[in-house]
This record gives sequence, structure tokens and C-alpha cells, in this order.
Amino acid sequence: MRQTILTGDRPTGPLHLGHYAGSLATRVELQHSHATYVLIADLQALTDHADRPEEIRHNVMEVALDYLAVGIDPAVSTIVVQSGIPELAELTGYFLNLVTVARLERNPTVKDEIRQKGFGGEIPAGFLVYPVSQAADITAFKAHLVPVGTDQVPMIEQTVEIVRRFNRIYGSILVEPKALVPRISRLPGTDGRSKMSKSLGNAIYLSDLPDVVTDKVMRMYTDPRHARVEDPGEVEGNVVFTYLDAFDPDRPGLETLKQRYRAGGVGDVALKHHLIDVLHRLLAPIRARRQDLARDPEQILRILREGTERGRAVARDTVAEARRAMHLDYQAIIA
Ligand code: ATP
Ligand code: MG
Repeated sequence: MRQTILTGDRPTGPLHLGHYAGSLATRVELQHSHATYVLIADLQALTDHADRPEEIRHNVMEVALDYLAVGIDPAVSTIVVQSGIPELAELTGYFLNLVTVARLERNPTVKDEIRQKGFGGEIPAGFLVYPVSQAADITAFKAHLVPVGTDQVPMIEQTVEIVRRFNRIYGSILVEPKALVPRISRLPGTDGRSKMSKSLGNAIYLSDLPDVVTDKVMRMYTDPRHARVEDPGEVEGNVVFTYLDAFDPDRPGLETLKQRYRAGGVGDVALKHHLIDVLHRLLAPIRARRQDLARDPEQILRILREGTERGRAVARDTVAEARRAMHLDYQAIIA
């Protein structure tokens, strides 16, 4: 039987190289061999953007364009909009009884994000429980595999715990998912911070124009001790090399470049020009397809509508099954 994949993104902005390295590339690669669902998590985006609904709505389209531009094929993958499937919110409600507040507060990614977003004492309850809504998204589609960056591994662990607890109490209905983490599982930001992220303003977007990409790469942080061309340079921890590791298709060429950089004799400007080249080759076709697709918004809306309807049918079945198992099938009680 074909395995099922589910993954998604928050429509808090257009997608960037971190998404590509962490998840998009794997989705495109596996979509032909797996039943693939890709979720635009607009409900989840509201957990820290409750006061900016128009922005989230606008970005649903941007994310959909990015998906199609990188090669997610709506003929084989199902793109769903989370808010179009209210059963996901219903399942989240059931799952909330299977986790403790203490467990939610221990989630290392959520902890980091709470710190980073500066909520202070004002953490939206929905934000603290968003890993539970992700558990609902994953299990509603009975996904076996979830292609994600490392930041999402705690979410999958949390999902597995919920699934085990659910299945133990109510009977084996839900599928235990596995995270599918790529080689470069956390792409750093152009500022050298550990994660490229929309909210940190350190991202190269898939839709950035060539000049913007060049400018962002030229400002990138390298090895501070590598002041002169002839100085030996550090490859490990050098953000430019991390990007090359993720995106340079010429692996032997990259190994040679690393050796030369370590030995001294490769300047940071030349190194960055190489990265700019690699990124232009990756991004040019994506940008061109995106511009083409953007000319026909009706077509994008149709893809989203059809995907969401197909996805909803699957989620509805799972939730009906869950409801029966939980003795919440009201229809049967009153019949
Ligand atoms: P936000 O700042 O709004 O949370 P984000 O940039 O973190 O946005 P998400 O929509 O939260 O993006 O993440 C979607 C997917 O992309 C997840 O699977 C996540 O692991 C992956 N991802 C995001 N940023 C990176 C990154 N820098 N490196 C690797 N994977 C990433
Ligand atoms: Mg995020």
C-alpha cells in the first residue's frame, strides 16, 4: 500500500530557502510515490497573528503560488487549506484532553518561539496548543511520513504520544507518523542566526528578484577570522558553505572548493559569487513559473478548492471513526 505524506506551512509570508531545504524539495521528490497532502495552515497562523487576518488570507495565495512554482503538482498532490476543513479543529478539541499543560510547556520549539516572539506573560492559549492542532492535521490524513525541518521534530514526537494514548484508550484507529528530516535539516538565516525564518527577517525568499538575492548573499556572515584571501578559512559553521551544502548540485566541485578555502586562497567575495550563481540557477525557473502562475489567480483558487474538498472527505472519515470510538456518535445514541 502506498504510504501517506502530510506536511504544510503557515501562510505568514511567502516561502523561503529554509522551507525548500527543510521540506519542499522532499515533497516534490516523493509526491509520485506517496499519497501526498500539503496543508496551508491558516488557522494555525492565527495563533500568533490573530489581529492580522487579511495578511494571512493574502499569504494563502502566496504560499500556493510557491508550492506550484517549486513543482508540487496538483494532479498528484492534494493542496488543502486548513480553515476549509473544520473537522481538523474538532479533532484538535478531542486531542486536547490527551495532553497535559506541563507537557505542552516543555516543547522546546514552542519554548524558543515564545521567547523569540516576546509574548512575555501574554502567551495566546492557541499558540501553546498549536502542536496539538498539528497532531490533528497529521492524524486526520493518517499520514505515515511528515517531511519537516528539525524544528518540527518535537511536534512529531508530541503527535506520536497523542496517537498512542488515543489508540490505547479508544482502540487502534490512528496512525503513528514519522518525521522525515533531510540532510540539511535547519537552514540558518542570512544573519548567521540558527534558523532562517519569516518572523526573523533573515530569509531569502523563493520569489526574491535576482538583485535582492545578490544583495542578501553579499551581506552574509562568513568566517570573521578569514580577513585576507590567503588566510585559511573555516568551513564548519560558515553559513555560505551551509547554503552550498544544501543547494550546490556539483558535490565533487564543492568538496574541492572546501579544501581550497580551508587551505587559504579563496576570498569571501569569490565564494559568495559562487553561491549567488548556484542560487540563481535554482531560483530562476521557480521565479519564472511563479510569475506565469500569478497571471491566472482563478486557476490557483480552483486548485485550492478542489484540493480542500478532496482532503476534507478524508479528514471527515477519520473524524467520524474517532467520534464513534469515543462514544460521541450522537446519531447512534438517539437512533
Ligand atoms: P514562521 O516564522 O511564521 O513560523 P517559518 O519560517 O518557521 O515561519 P513554518 O511555516 O513555520 O515557517 O514552517 C514550515 C516548514 O518549513 C516546517 O516543516 C519547517 O520545519 C520548515 N522550515 C522552516 N524554516 C526552516 C529552516 N530555516 N530550515 C529548515 N526547515 C525549515
Ligand atoms: Mg515556524
